[in-house]
Amino acid sequence: MLDLLAQIESWRLWAPRKLAHVSPAGHLTYADLGSGSDAVAAFLQRSLGDDASPVVVIGHKEPEMLVGFLGAAKSKHPYVPLDVSLPTQRVERVAETAGARLVLTVESIRSAVRDGVAPRPVKLKPDDAYYVMFTSGSTGEPKGVVITLGCLTSFVEWMLDEHMLRNGQDVFLNQAPFSFDLSVMDTYLSLVTGGTLVSLTATEIADPRQLFTSLAASGTTTWVSTPSFAQLCLAAGSFDTSMLPGVRRFLFCGETLPWDLAAQLQQRFPNSAVWNTYGPTEATVATTSIRIDRSILEHYPILPVGRPKPGTHISVFDGEDRPMDTGDRGEIVIAGPNVSTGYLNRPDLTARSFFRMKGARAYRTGDRGHFANGFLFFDGRNDNQVKLRGYRIELGDVEANLRQLPGVRDAVVLPLRRNDHVDALCAFVLGESLPDETEFDASVRLRRALAARLPAYMVPRVVRLVATFPVTANGKVNRRALAESLT
Ligand code: AMP
Repeated sequence: MLDLLAQIESWRLWAPRKLAHVSPAGHLTYADLGSGSDAVAAFLQRSLGDDASPVVVIGHKEPEMLVGFLGAAKSKHPYVPLDVSLPTQRVERVAETAGARLVLTVESIRSAVRDGVAPRPVKLKPDDAYYVMFTSGSTGEPKGVVITLGCLTSFVEWMLDEHMLRNGQDVFLNQAPFSFDLSVMDTYLSLVTGGTLVSLTATEIADPRQLFTSLAASGTTTWVSTPSFAQLCLAAGSFDTSMLPGVRRFLFCGETLPWDLAAQLQQRFPNSAVWNTYGPTEATVATTSIRIDRSILEHYPILPVGRPKPGTHISVFDGEDRPMDTGDRGEIVIAGPNVSTGYLNRPDLTARSFFRMKGARAYRTGDRGHFANGFLFFDGRNDNQVKLRGYRIELGDVEANLRQLPGVRDAVVLPLRRNDHVDALCAFVLGESLPDETEFDASVRLRRALAARLPAYMVPRVVRLVATFPVTANGKVNRRALAESLT
């Protein structure tokens, strides 16, 4: 079994001056990463002792984030990566739910690094929690997915084999925030192979000119992003091999990979391989993968998400938890060593979605799917979870937060779709506007109040005040009728 932390640490000896991380906020060598994370580990041991309580690491794409992650791991404290764009209230809720006694900021990491004290060596075991990734929860409370060192190692080993990554050769593009588990793919594949991770910041991504300048300068060989981000890049005619001459593979995860996107990428980057990978945070980034080559494009107008990684089993269950036959559509269930041990401090939620199957940890994904020709296909969701630009959103999370705002009696949130994908959210709110307030003013007020509670991508673009909700024959809110009112 790969010794993940020792492997990362080995680059400190073999290639101390090699850049481990590059971002507009600074550069980090493997020597800096090794000594910096040692210092953070020592700081955590001094501050927290050996209680293994989670540590929040908050920032954006600064090199200190990686120093914080590894420092936490070296002192046996699972880290909770958060992005600074998150409203304070949500950060506080996450820290509380996680039972975190300490929050590492970029500043506090810098100060620990300046102290430069060496830690007491500790050895993480495969069952020890390595990180806790928080994701949207349907009741309005974010839930923390516990990923052990064993889960992460199982995922990384598989990716190394599948892509035959060579040591020290690759530059990995990091588009996703560190608070989104897609970033685990680029970060750990890069660190384990002695590669260079190049992070794009939110500011770069928001400005096309800056974005393409940064991409051209990145030297990317392995592209890791959501399909939505690649779609955004393809809007520029100059996004091709002349901009990224070294790129050899595109790795996608997190949402549906549209056929057109894969086909266009193959045209613009004829020497690169395009891969679709699939999986929830609860099964460590990705569990299936497939190379989308010409033959797959010819045979499948809707692209498969691939074959399961070796050692992990995927079943499709009917409504009564019985495995279904090939071709039948049901719920995707994942069982294997990459499956999380559950939601942190939430045995109730854990019991609902996790169970044991033939001795392995298993997770009911809530995703619908089917097998055909040995490939898994994703057929949508069982519930009200949506993906917006790759971000996972429980509509119930937005609704619960809206209901807590003054004057709101009830709320229903629906996705606004364009070309088959979710483009934005729309909230229908039962409540009163304030005296002399127009519906527009009320919508601005509610959106602003929500932005203080939720990440920006969860704030509905449209808010409509309604007097009543349409109801179904059995008295439930008729979400379909509301959706039809949008078209
Ligand atoms: P997250 O936990 O944020 O990674 O989101 C996981 C969910 O994203 C999965 O349960 C799926 O609903 C969706 N998803 C992930 N990868 C893919 C893919 N390749 N194709 C379609 N949906 C995907």
